[in-house]
Amino acid sequence: MQATGSDSALFDTLRKVFGFREFRPNQERIVRAILNKRDVFAVMPTGGGKSLCYQLPAVLLPGTCMVISPLIALMKDQVDGARANGIRAAHLNSSLCPEERTAVMHDLLSNSLDLLYVAPERFTLEQFREMLGRVNISMAVIDEAHCISEWGHDFRPDYLSLSALVTLFPDLPVTAFTATATHLVQQDILDKLSLRDPLVVRASFDRGNLFYDIRFKENSGEQIAAIVRSNQGKAGIIYRTSRKNVNDTTAMLKAKGFRALPYHAGLGDEERKRNQDAFIRDEADVIVATVAFGMGIDKSNIRFVIHADLPKSIENYYQETGRAGRDGEAAQCTLLFSQGDIPKVRFFIDTITDEAERARVLAAFSKVIAFASTSVCRRKTLLDYFGETYPHDNCNSCDICLGTREVIDATTESQMLLSAIARTEERFGATHIVDIVTGSRNQKIRDFGHDRLKTYGVGKGREKKFWRQLIDELLARKVIAKSEGLFPMLYLLPKAVQVLRNEEKVEIVRVREKKATGNVKNLVEGSYDHELFDLLRSLRKQIADELGIPPYVVFSDRSLRDMASILPQSDETMLSVSGVGEVKLQRYGQQFLALIKKYRKEHPEETSRLPILPR
Ligand code: ADP
Ligand code: ZN
Repeated sequence: MQATGSDSALFDTLRKVFGFREFRPNQERIVRAILNKRDVFAVMPTGGGKSLCYQLPAVLLPGTCMVISPLIALMKDQVDGARANGIRAAHLNSSLCPEERTAVMHDLLSNSLDLLYVAPERFTLEQFREMLGRVNISMAVIDEAHCISEWGHDFRPDYLSLSALVTLFPDLPVTAFTATATHLVQQDILDKLSLRDPLVVRASFDRGNLFYDIRFKENSGEQIAAIVRSNQGKAGIIYRTSRKNVNDTTAMLKAKGFRALPYHAGLGDEERKRNQDAFIRDEADVIVATVAFGMGIDKSNIRFVIHADLPKSIENYYQETGRAGRDGEAAQCTLLFSQGDIPKVRFFIDTITDEAERARVLAAFSKVIAFASTSVCRRKTLLDYFGETYPHDNCNSCDICLGTREVIDATTESQMLLSAIARTEERFGATHIVDIVTGSRNQKIRDFGHDRLKTYGVGKGREKKFWRQLIDELLARKVIAKSEGLFPMLYLLPKAVQVLRNEEKVEIVRVREKKATGNVKNLVEGSYDHELFDLLRSLRKQIADELGIPPYVVFSDRSLRDMASILPQSDETMLSVSGVGEVKLQRYGQQFLALIKKYRKEHPEETSRLPILPR
C-alpha cells in the first residue's frame, strides 16, 4: 500500500498508462486521499478530469474498483476509454447478453479486473450484494453523485440504495463525483451517503478553454452557417428550442453541403440513436438538437456549441455549452440573442398552469436575459451565478473581454426611426421603416411615395443590420411597440416623445465582429500543421471503425494536434505527446509514426513546431 502511493508510482502511472505528465487541478490530492483509504466527495466541472481521479488508484490498488454510473451509454464509453489505455475494465448492466455477463463475472471472480462499471439498480439485488462478498473490491465510486439528491436536477430513486455502500465496504474508500451540485445538494449527498470524514473538493466551475460569445441575432440561418463554415470539419452542436427549427436548420445546413443531422423527441428512438452514433463517430460534424441532446455522451472533441434560441436557464446554458471542449482544447460557445425572441418564450411560460412552477421558470429565464444583456465579462457573470468570484478583470476569452463590443449613443438614430414611424402614421412594419431610413428604392417605397419623406435615406451611412438591432432595442425599452397579427406594425409609446425631445438618451451595445472572429481563431488554432492534422484524423477514424470505438477514444484531438506540432519520429518523442501512454503507443504508435514519416518526406520543409502549446 505504501509503495503504491509513492511519488514515483503515482507519476509513472500517470505517464505510462494515461500519457500525461501533469495532474490537472485537484486530481493529485484526490488520488492521494484515495490511496490513503480516505473517502472523497468531489464536484468538478465537465472536462475537469474526474475519471482519472479514480482510474489511476484503480490501477494501483489491488482488487477491482467498482464504479456506479447511471447511464449505460456512458458506461460503455468509459470502458472503451479505459481499455484503450490498457486498463482492465468491464461493465455489468442490463444491456449484456448472458454469455457476456458470465465472462464479466468470471473476470471479476478471478481478480482480473481493475475497473467494473455497474448500474445502481444492481444494489437492490440481494444476489449481487452477496456476490460482492466473494470478490476483492478495492474501492467504490459513485459517478454522477447528484442523482442521489431529490434537490438535484436529475434525481434517480435507484441511487438511494447507494447509502448502503459505507456499510457494505466498511474498510474501503467510498468516493463520489459530480459535475453539478449546489452547496445544498452537496450537503444532501454527503448526508445520504454518510461518507466518513471525506476529503471534500469543490473545483472551480471555470471552463478556461471555452470562448463565450453572445451575438445579436439577426439572420440566424446565415449566422449559423458562417460559424459552421469557420469550423469546417469540426464537431459542433446547435441548440434550437422547437422541432421545426431543428428540422429547418438541419435542412439549411445540408443544402449548403455540411454534414448535419437532427435530434429531437419527434424522431423515432432508432433514428435518434443512429444520428447520435454518427456524431460520436465523426461521421456527422453537426448535430442540430433540442435540449434533449447531450446527456449521456462523452464525446470529447466538440469544438463549438451554438445556442440559436435562448436557453431556459443559466444552468442549462452552462451544461449545454459545457459539452464543448471536454478534452481541454479550445472551443467556441455562441449564443444568438435578440430581444425579439423573448415574447415567444414568455408565451410558453405563460402556459404553465402551476403558479409556483411558472414563477420559478420565469425567474430562471430572466437571469438568462440579464446575462445576455449585460456588458460584464461572460465568464464572471456565469461564475458569479454559481457563487464563485472570478479573480481576474479580463478573462481574455469572451466577447466582452476581447473588446468586441462598444456602447454607442444612438439617440439621433433612434429619432430618425421614430420620425419615420410617425410620418407614415404608424402603419408599417420594421422592414419597411428600415427601408425608408436607409433610402431603399424598392417598389413598395415608391408606391407609397415614401421616397419623398423627410426621413427618407437619412440613415444611408449605416447598414440595415444596425437599424434592425436598434428597432429591437427600442422595442425592448418600450419606446415603441408592435401590433399583433400577421403583419405587425410599429407604433410609438409615450417614451418616444421623450426620446424625440432629447430628454431620454438611447445607448446601445454594438458588436465589432471582425475582431472577435480573429481572436477566436487564434485561440482555437494555435501552431500546428493543419494538413497533417487532417491526415491523422482520417487515420484515427479508420482505426476507430476497425475497432468499433469512437475516434476520440483512440486519440484525443489534443494528442493529434501535438503530433501535428511536434512531428514525432521515434517512440520516445511519441510518448511525449499528451495522451499517448505505453499501451496506446504499442497499439497505434507505429501507424501514426509511419504516416508522419511519410508526410515529412513529402513536405521536407515541415519540422517540429516546438514549443508545444501550453494546455
Ligand atoms: P470529466 O469526467 O470530469 O468530464 P474526463 O475524465 O472525461 O472529465 O476528462 C476530460 C478529458 O481530460 C479527457 O480527454 C482526459 O483524457 C483529459 N485529462 C484528464 N486528466 C488529464 C491530465 N492530467 N492531463 C491532460 N489531460 C487530462
Ligand atoms: Zn470575459
